[in-house]
Amino acid sequence: MQKEDLKSLVTQMYEELIENIDVQEQPNKEQILTFLQDATSTISSISDNEIDSVEHAKLAFTNAYKEIAHDTINSYQLTNNTFKELSYVHEEALKECDDPHIDFSNITKKFNDIQSQMSKEVIRANAVITDLNSKVKELERNSNLDSLTKVFNRRALTTYLNTICSKKALSHEMHLLILDIDDFKIINDTYGHVAGDKILIFIANMLRKTLRDGDKVFRYGGEEFIIILNRIDVTTCIEVTNRILNLIRSNQLIYKGDSINVTMSIGATLYYKDDTPDEIIARADKALYRSKNAGKNQMNSELLHGH
Ligand code: GH3
Ligand code: MG
Ligand code: MG
Repeated sequence: MQKEDLKSLVTQMYEELIENIDVQEQPNKEQILTFLQDATSTISSISDNEIDSVEHAKLAFTNAYKEIAHDTINSYQLTNNTFKELSYVHEEALKECDDPHIDFSNITKKFNDIQSQMSKEVIRANAVITDLNSKVKELERNSNLDSLTKVFNRRALTTYLNTICSKKALSHEMHLLILDIDDFKIINDTYGHVAGDKILIFIANMLRKTLRDGDKVFRYGGEEFIIILNRIDVTTCIEVTNRILNLIRSNQLIYKGDSINVTMSIGATLYYKDDTPDEIIARADKALYRSKNAGKNQMNSELLHGH
């Protein structure tokens, strides 16, 4: 991890701590200590080849993005300069046209030259644009972030679960939640796709703010999120899940004067030794299916048989 990344991460944690203190009527020493311990353990667990904080991933992404933006500006500058030179030549050639002794063949040659140089420049600029576009696409593909909601994407989830599952036994309990927005198709059909996208962004932000630093939010699919909760027991997991459900159902989202009600269904499960990523997700999915079948806007959990 780079020094600058670390500084940004620490700043972010500091701001979160202040925010946590601000929102509590009477913050006690113990809560602050727990937060600091969480922050310390997050920092100490960071390694460069693992996915870590969203902030770290954002920084890596932004830096790569800046490079591409820089290349774009340079290329634009070059095209601009070339066109400036060509318009100068063009002006000079036009002046020659005023000359009573017009050398037609020379003038035609000059205009043809300008034309061909302009075409060449357009071809070059187009090639640069195509190349930069594919670089942006590749950057997005290789990034750990979802471009719409700025939480971790499915690729990051695969990396994370593979790392967890390869460890076999974990030193702490880990829970996985699948969250799926209820009747999202109806919301899109009623209020439009843009409203739908705004809801996705709002929910992602809310989930990130609600969770602790060691927890992770991933966009799993269109309107589905996965949350990984570390170091909590089943009772606390149910509390967290109900808190999320409450926050979502009690929020009145206003879009272009319309108030939109959103609810979610959740499926929860626990990580068991020897689980594969597919197995743990399939169990959470089964629990989600039960929440949907039982009327949505609720959570269910699925534990491994025999446990
Ligand atoms: P259920 O309560 O059973 O989950 O119903 P649902 O309508 O939420 O589920 P369904 O799978 O039928 O539809 C999901 C919808 O989510 C369909 C698709 O248009 C929408 N969706 C998926 N990704 C996006 C996105 O990025 N933006 C927006 N606005 N909509 C999306
Ligand atoms: Mg769905
Ligand atoms: Mg849905």
